[in-house]
Amino acid sequence: MSQKQSHPVQMGPIEPNQRLQKLIADSQRVSIDPTMPITRYYRSGNQIVETADRSLREGNLEKAFTFYLRFVTIFVELILDHPGYKSVLPVDKQQTKEKIKKIIPRAEEIRKKLLEKYLAEYELYVKHLKLQAEQEEEDRKKAKTLQALEPSTSKVAPTVSYAASAPSQVAVISDNDVKLINQVLYPSDFLTDRSHSSALPTTGLLLAGEDRRFDRALKPQTMRQPASLASEFRSIVVPSNTMQKFLELAAANTAANLETCAILAGRFEDNGFSLTHVIFPKQSGTSDSCNTMNEEEIAVVQDQYNLITLGWIHTHPSQTAFLSSVDLHTHCSYQLMLEEAIAIVCSPKYGETGFFNLTSYGMDYISQCRQTGFHPHTNGQSLFVEAQHIVMSDIRDAKIIDLR
Ligand SMILES: [Zn+2]
Ligand SMILES: [Zn+2]
Repeated sequence: MSQKQSHPVQMGPIEPNQRLQKLIADSQRVSIDPTMPITRYYRSGNQIVETADRSLREGNLEKAFTFYLRFVTIFVELILDHPGYKSVLPVDKQQTKEKIKKIIPRAEEIRKKLLEKYLAEYELYVKHLKLQAEQEEEDRKKAKTLQALEPSTSKVAPTVSYAASAPSQVAVISDNDVKLINQVLYPSDFLTDRSHSSALPTTGLLLAGEDRRFDRALKPQTMRQPASLASEFRSIVVPSNTMQKFLELAAANTAANLETCAILAGRFEDNGFSLTHVIFPKQSGTSDSCNTMNEEEIAVVQDQYNLITLGWIHTHPSQTAFLSSVDLHTHCSYQLMLEEAIAIVCSPKYGETGFFNLTSYGMDYISQCRQTGFHPHTNGQSLFVEAQHIVMSDIRDAKIIDLR
């Protein structure tokens, strides 16, 4: 999901409008799972907007754009096909509508900025090609001059020396170009100063007045954060006895070889998430699945304690700790809302605990997979990994809320 900012010389050859179209297509290539309770989308949708807002503050335009577009795609198009759409409360629909009204002009503004950025990178690339051609021409002239001056030794030597000194693509970039590249990748003025791009064509829906208001409201705070840091997941602090507490309440099911599941909920604090509550919804489990019921009861609890959904936890009573194909689909919908969402799998039989999240490849792959029930997935690239952003802590216990 993280959008790696690419080196302009690599991305340069892609025509700017095409490059933007590709980003738009990638951003819209999401799906929602009709078997997931619709409340889950409405409860957690705001996390998508918050991730977009944060990416914008950090200057990661591609990621901000991707997430705003994801929100719009889900809540303007995809959600209409969800079988539970009719049951969505008018107040939830209204709030979502308000959000979309704010997001669309914001996304439109970023789209323009991205196009400017892509155009600048493309120009840089074209300039680089030109410099390279000039350099080659100069070398050729030099060789010719040499040939004229020393006809006896020139037959082989100039060709060899040219070949040896033929500039590689990267070597041709001057210090000045490097500065330009840095400006392009980490613009210190990406929302306010248009001086370097005023000559570039701009299209869009925004009027100048709205434009200025937008600039002020979203003036970026962190400008020079490298892309790698900006795209890192925020940590989730997990109280270390959470799994033990969960397993105690799951024990009766586990003994009967039935799965148990619960929602991990918490808050955002100090630049990271803190898991504060484990909520057991009404549910029915089998030996390899667990279906939740009455999800609106979870929503009531979450509203009461002001909790966001951080993921889920479930048992594998007779198997090891991994994500089954059904689990992957379940988790995909959590991670679509909150990119840091985790799945904890407890296997009491094998004494294993897994903390997982989907890879960006896995998110893309599972989003495209239309199969339900247990089914095979690709054997190639891994779809999920051990989560790297979990911090165990003994400071606080997670509270258990059992709605069963
Ligand atoms: Zn499972
Ligand atoms: Zn699948």
